[in-house]
Amino acid sequence: MTRHVVVTGANRGIGRALAEAFVANGDTVSTIYRGGDLPAGVTGAIADVTDTDAVNAAFDELEAKHGRVRVLVANAGITRDGLLMRMSDEDFQSVLDVNLTGTFRCVRRAVNSMMRERFGRIVLIGSVVGLMGNPGQVNYSSSKAALVGMARSITREVGARGITANVIAPGFITTDMTDELPEDAKKQYEATIPAKRFGVTEDVAAAAVFLASDAAGYVSGAVLPVDGGLGMGH
Ligand code: NDP
Repeated sequence: MTRHVVVTGANRGIGRALAEAFVANGDTVSTIYRGGDLPAGVTGAIADVTDTDAVNAAFDELEAKHGRVRVLVANAGITRDGLLMRMSDEDFQSVLDVNLTGTFRCVRRAVNSMMRERFGRIVLIGSVVGLMGNPGQVNYSSSKAALVGMARSITREVGARGITANVIAPGFITTDMTDELPEDAKKQYEATIPAKRFGVTEDVAAAAVFLASDAAGYVSGAVLPVDGGLGMGH
């Protein structure tokens, strides 16, 4: 029986590459997303991760088709950059609500199924800036740092049930999110990355496929940097 893998936000960017990589790995892949076209072979259920009822209903719909979720990759995320002293409550809260609470909503529902299966792989897409910080991203870096605590608490809570929870901390990866950066900022960032280039979405997907594999069954609570050496896990 193939594994049911749920990736959030598989319509574009890193999420799309994640879904494609799990399809190529032979898994049954579905996504919780807000709309748009999906890669071949990926089943979608519409939900905004800020809506608990919609998230739960989407999991129910996908599990009715493909069986209990065994792998969750929580990828959906947003930025609302701005300097601390000018950042509104709304800009702070909205980023936390998607990146942190949205991840929590998906994880809570998925673990319910994983406990019954006595197997689970949870991969949270964090960020290098969750550990390093970044000016203009107090909201975003806080949300991503919190995912480390989340993965480690999940590990301690349900690690004995065959469930692992890890964080991938990507550095700068070429997607719509980084396309928004001004050209000179991109050049400056590139200069600070030991690999001297941005990564591609497939770099993140390869790490996720590993963390979700049987071979990674003894890896939990870890932060795996995929950042060309930018943060080195610090
Ligand atoms: P994109 O902006 O390209 O894609 C973001 C995805 O998240 C889209 O599918 C988007 O859906 C979805 N999404 C956003 N908000 C919600 C929501 N409320 N409910 C459901 N889905 C939502 O970003 P990336 O692919 O670059 O980023 C993916 C993840 O990787 C994010 O968590 C990001 O923080 C993280 N990351 C990215 C890095 C990079 O350099 N690109 C570096 C480090 C981490 P929709 O199309 O409907 O907006």
